[in-house]
Amino acid sequence: MKYTPVENYINGKFVAASTSKKLAVISPVDGSHLSDVPLSTSQDLDKAVKAAKVAFPAWSKMPIKERVQVFFKYKTLLERDIKELAALCSEENGKTYSESIAEIEKSIELTEFACSLPQLVSGEILEVSKGVECRTEHVPLGVVASIVPFNFPSMVPNWTIPNAIALGNCMVIKPSEKVPLSCAKLATLVQEAGLPAGVFNIVNGDSEIVTAICDHPGIEAVSFVGSTKVAKIVYQRATSNFKRALALGGAKNHLMVLPDAKADMTAQNVAASMSGCAGQRCMAASAMVAVGNVDHIIEKICEEARKIVPGENLGAVINKESQERIEKYITEAEKQGAKILVDGRHAKVKGKENGTYVGPTVIDYVKPDMAVAKEEIFGPVISIMRTNTVDEALAIENANPYGNAASVFTQNGGMARYIIEKASAGMIGVNVGVPVPREPFSFGGWNDSRFGVGDITGKSSIEFWTKLKKSTTKWNPEAGVNWMS
Ligand code: NAD
Repeated sequence: MKYTPVENYINGKFVAASTSKKLAVISPVDGSHLSDVPLSTSQDLDKAVKAAKVAFPAWSKMPIKERVQVFFKYKTLLERDIKELAALCSEENGKTYSESIAEIEKSIELTEFACSLPQLVSGEILEVSKGVECRTEHVPLGVVASIVPFNFPSMVPNWTIPNAIALGNCMVIKPSEKVPLSCAKLATLVQEAGLPAGVFNIVNGDSEIVTAICDHPGIEAVSFVGSTKVAKIVYQRATSNFKRALALGGAKNHLMVLPDAKADMTAQNVAASMSGCAGQRCMAASAMVAVGNVDHIIEKICEEARKIVPGENLGAVINKESQERIEKYITEAEKQGAKILVDGRHAKVKGKENGTYVGPTVIDYVKPDMAVAKEEIFGPVISIMRTNTVDEALAIENANPYGNAASVFTQNGGMARYIIEKASAGMIGVNVGVPVPREPFSFGGWNDSRFGVGDITGKSSIEFWTKLKKSTTKWNPEAGVNWMS
């Protein structure tokens, strides 16, 4: 085992969980045993919530301009340790080192946004009647929870940590049991940055801790990022306990390619979108709708896909189960009559025979009712469907239950605008394969990709992590006695 067993982080200290139950943390890169992660109990969660509750009064009373100083420092620490964080991320998640560097850079950008919160959260004040003022303030909620997935071990925790905490909340986070090491490293950085003990806490574990978070009376709000199946469970359970909840789910993102699209640029974007992070991105292109004859672009997509080599510029998928699931999807599509143009099954990387790799896969002549067209595959696979018109393409896109992202590749501005209007997704790209809005714009899908109101990052997150206090004050005699007395 390369690292010591993972511990919980409670009240500013790494502590053992109250259980001997654990899971092995295995590197998808080569199958090596990295560490063990405890399957903490509800007693462990309770300790974390209690520590957060004790820390809350002092932290929330501190002016936000002082609170964000911790995140200015945290940002410099992320920059200082970017190589170490990226190496850890690649080891536990399997993505390439350059993808991990990009993930930490994005974490830095998220932190920069949190540092700007004082400029954004000043409330409003207005003299609503002679001598009478109304004023609003954003007030933190209390102890909040963040439950995160395996595919971005640093970035997704940083969707919530800087904003929620800078806004005055205290947090308990539950990392993915598959990638708990990056989050533990983030705890050392917030501590070094000067965050008081108890403001940020980590409780490791699996679904038992997630259920305990949804049920804990001391937790005011729950944010979740993961699959749609679990997002629904968490949203229902947390809200049935009268908590505020925002649960981001899975995705099936459609790219629509029109005959006038720039061939080289489109092919590079499609190949990069489907295969980046081994297709394990909720913003990955997973289905492509070829409108009319775009055979020349499909040929180029295949050429680009063949340049993507497992173990070189393509990372591993998270585990054997995932590898088998992805390969099964490809085999089923083939049996149902789809044509495999580039086949990533049975990928092996020399010297890393126990790693879990799937090569880039391009499947053509997919029918909209096939599983590869409808379901989230979460691997480096693109399923191409063919239509004659943009409206048929939009009908396919609109029929899918998810709604994270959709993109169009075209040189026609009017057509692009039409697709922006008609696509049923929260984030739309025009000649962009991965249309992630960058700060200060917020991130969030629609439909089965997001349950709850608002987005998880950017300005929209302010509404989720705070409640509004409205005060009406009357000081001057000219206000008279009649104004609502
Ligand atoms: P997951 O849903 O399996 O797990 C997410 C979290 O929920 C983990 O912390 C896990 O321990 C916990 N969990 C798992 N099963 C549970 C259960 N039955 N009850 C309660 N908690 C449970 O997701 P994952 O495999 O870690 O991540 C991949 C998924 O996340 C994909 O579907 C991907 O699209 C999605 N994702 C979505 C976004 C977005 O912004 N919409 C971003 C990243 C990832």
